Amino acid sequence: MPKYVFITGGVLSGLGKGVVTASTGLLLKSMGYSVTAIKIDPYVNVDAGTMNPYMHGEIFVTEDGGETDLDIGHYERFLGIDLTKKHNITTGRIFYSVITKERRGEYLGKCVQIIPHVTDEIKKSIKEIVRESGSDIGLVEIGGTVGDIESLPFLEAIRQMRIEEGVENTLYIHVALSPVISTGEQKTKPVQHSVNELRRIGIQPDIIIVRSSRELEEENRAKIALYANLPPQAVFSDPDVDTIYRVPLLLHGRGYTRYLANKLKLEYREPDLSRWKEFVDRFAHANKVIKIAMIGKYTRIRDSYLSIVEALKHSGAWNNVRIELEWFEATDIENRRLHLEDILYYDGAVILPGFGRRGSEGKIEAIRILREHDKPVLGICFGMELMVVEFARNVIGLTRANSSELDPNTPYPVVDLIPSQRGIREFGGTMRLGSYPIRVIKNTEAWRIYGREIVYERHRHRYVINPSYIDLLESNGLKISGWSLEENYPEFIEIENYKSIYFGTQAHPEFKSRPLEPSPVYMYFVKKILETKKVL
Ligand code: GLN
Repeated sequence: MPKYVFITGGVLSGLGKGVVTASTGLLLKSMGYSVTAIKIDPYVNVDAGTMNPYMHGEIFVTEDGGETDLDIGHYERFLGIDLTKKHNITTGRIFYSVITKERRGEYLGKCVQIIPHVTDEIKKSIKEIVRESGSDIGLVEIGGTVGDIESLPFLEAIRQMRIEEGVENTLYIHVALSPVISTGEQKTKPVQHSVNELRRIGIQPDIIIVRSSRELEEENRAKIALYANLPPQAVFSDPDVDTIYRVPLLLHGRGYTRYLANKLKLEYREPDLSRWKEFVDRFAHANKVIKIAMIGKYTRIRDSYLSIVEALKHSGAWNNVRIELEWFEATDIENRRLHLEDILYYDGAVILPGFGRRGSEGKIEAIRILREHDKPVLGICFGMELMVVEFARNVIGLTRANSSELDPNTPYPVVDLIPSQRGIREFGGTMRLGSYPIRVIKNTEAWRIYGREIVYERHRHRYVINPSYIDLLESNGLKISGWSLEENYPEFIEIENYKSIYFGTQAHPEFKSRPLEPSPVYMYFVKKILETKKVL
C-alpha cells in the first residue's frame, strides 16, 4: 500500500513549494524508497500548453508529450525519473472526465456534485497515478495558496484521503512564508494565518516548512509550533540559499529525513547524498566564469526559460565554471533600444525558443552578428529555425526568406508548417510533442555531442526546416546533422568549419538535463565556449 505526502502552500505563491516537494522526494528516494510526484494545478485549463509563459512560466514537456507545469521539471531533475502528462492534474482535466462520464450516463439518476463526484475523481486520479507507477510513496503538491477558491475541492479530497488511507500512510506538509520586514524583524503572523486557514478546511499539518530570506529564529519556531498545534521539531527553517539544489542537503542536515521516516512509519536508512553533494559543491566552488547572452522575448520573467537555465547550471557545475547570464530582449534589439554589438562581449549566446512574430527580427539580427564573428551559438527550436532564416537571407541571399509562421507570404519559406499540422484547428495539445528519435550523422558536431546514432529528445513545435530548401542550405555550408527517424525532418543544424560552435536543435534537450545527468548538448556547448575562450 503506497503512502502519500501532501504539500500545500500558504501566504503567497512562488515560495519554492515545488523545490520543497522535489527535495522531499529526493530524500525519501535516497533512503531507498521508490517515489513519484504529482502536481495539482487548480486552474481550469486542461493543461499548461495554451498558456503564455508570462502568465505561467515555462511550459515543461514530458517524454509522452505532456505540456505541464514547470514543477514537473523540478521533480524530474531532483528525482532523476521521467514523469508523464498524467502527473499534472488540473481542474480542467478533472472536470473534463467528470463531465464526460456524466454525458455517458455513468452517474445516471444522480445529481453530480463537487462533493462527492469531483472529489472522488480527484482521489481516483491521485491513487491511480501512484499505483501505476508502482511507487512506495506518492508526493502530491497542491498548487496555489491555501484559501484560493479553486483549490478547495483538491484540499477536500486530500483531507478525505487521510481517513481512507490511514494516518501512518499520509503526511501533510505546509510550506509558508515568514517575511522579514524593513525593520529587520522576521514576522510569523502570515504563517499562523495560513495554518489556521488549512485547519479550518480540516487539515492539521504534520510538518511546517518556513521559507524566509534568512534562518527562522528559535523564538519564531516556538511561536509557529504553538499556534499550529505542533512540537517545535516539526517546524523546519528553509532560508534562501545560493542554489535550489542545496535545499535537500539543508533540510537533511536539520533532521528532516529522519522526521519524515518517523512520521510515515518508514524504516530510516541513512540516505546516500554523496553525488548530489558533489554536484552542489562543484556548483558553489566553480573557479572559472563564462558569460552567456540569452536572447529571447519573455526575458522579463526568467522562469519562462527555466529548464534552459537549469541545464546551463548542470553543465556549468560539471565543467567547473560559473555561468553568468545576461538577458537580451529581442524586441529591444528591434527598436534599437539595445546596442546590438553589446552581444559580442559575451562568451556565447543562446537563441531561445518561442512563438510568433514579435521580436523575431531582433533575434535574426543578433544571430547575424554572432555568426559573422564566429561566436558560440546554441539555438533551441524557434532559435534554430531563425538561424536557418538568417543563413538563407544573409549567406545564400534569399532576402525575404522567413518562417511561414512569421510571414505567411514569404517567397522563401525556409521554415514551414509540418505537413501533418495542416488542417489542425484546435490549439490544445496538438503540436508535435514529446520524445522522438533522432538519427545523428557521423563526423559532425552532433555526433561529437552524442557519440551515438540514435538519440531521443523532447519536442514542442509545429514548424520545421522546409525539405525543399535542404540541398540549397547544405551546399552553402549549413549542415543538417540530425534527422527525425519517423519523417526525416531536419533536427540538428550546424555550420561546417565554424571557428567555435554553431549548433541548432529543433528539439529541447534542456528538458532531459538533470544535475546528475546533464544534457550532452549543453555540456558540449559549455566545453566549446571554454575552449574558444582559451584560443581567443
Ligand atoms: N514556433 C516554433 C514552432 O512551432 C518554435 C516552437 C518552439 O520554440 N518551441 O515550430
